[in-house]
Amino acid sequence: MRVLFIFLDGVGLGVDDPNINPFARLEMPFLQSLLGGNKLLAKSAPYVGKHATLLPLDAALGVNGLPQSATGQAVLLTGINIPQEIGEHYGPKPNPAVAKYLLNGNLFSQVIKAGKTAALLNAYPPRYFDGVDSGKRLYSAIPLAVTSAGLNLFDKDDYYAGRALSADFIGDGWRGMLGFPDAPVYEPHEAGNKLAELANQYDFSFFEYWASDYAGHKQDMNWAIEQFKTFDVVLSGLLDQWDDEDGLILITSDHGNMEDLSTRRHTDAKVPGLLIGSSAARTAFASELNDLQGIFQRILKIISP
Ligand SMILES: [Zn+2]
Repeated sequence: MRVLFIFLDGVGLGVDDPNINPFARLEMPFLQSLLGGNKLLAKSAPYVGKHATLLPLDAALGVNGLPQSATGQAVLLTGINIPQEIGEHYGPKPNPAVAKYLLNGNLFSQVIKAGKTAALLNAYPPRYFDGVDSGKRLYSAIPLAVTSAGLNLFDKDDYYAGRALSADFIGDGWRGMLGFPDAPVYEPHEAGNKLAELANQYDFSFFEYWASDYAGHKQDMNWAIEQFKTFDVVLSGLLDQWDDEDGLILITSDHGNMEDLSTRRHTDAKVPGLLIGSSAARTAFASELNDLQGIFQRILKIISP
């Protein structure tokens, strides 16, 4: 069975306070329909419904300080409690101590080793590759894991050919920020359809969404709300084209941030472990899952039982 992993950077389960938490203020009709009318808040988890399960997952892993992206993502990708091993939460990008774990094996390399297919569905712009090639830009944990598994990152040609998706789902960033006026753009629902089409081509696919962590650091309520209004429609488009029996969708994060805009720092909130799929697959995956460390083995078990 296949797995689609949608990674939302910096999204925790927060309090029901619309003054600080965009998830308390905004309506996400589609997601709320999956969660029995509940919003994506701490008080809504755990929840087990007809199509979705929501778990609160610990991202702190017994280590003092606020969880960070390099170690948090590396835990998701390796199943190792790296903050505990190196004695701190570290980020945003992996230092050599964190990179060592990722280079030693990760979800992507293990899936390939099992004879299955894997891809990171994000398309990266030319300036990203220029930055990496010139040494000015370090890989973050996810592309480091992908490339170390011998997989390519999708580029501009892949994006134009419809083999990969924009990091904002809809492609506005390619036309605006990146300066490609002829780049493909999608309506959010259509982007969700596209995500399903791409994910259906691999045993394991991964999509990285980072703007949520940015909105958290910028304490930008309006941007946060706009992002997740879009995401809700993307999700509906995805599920229109997704068969429960085909695979499991996992949506999770590395640490809290955007759910508390009273601070520009990360938070120690639990993060959502949102599972969408058949009841049997969700039950097996959710059993005794309470932190980020447990995700790695469970994904491998689904893809290569
Ligand atoms: Zn951050």
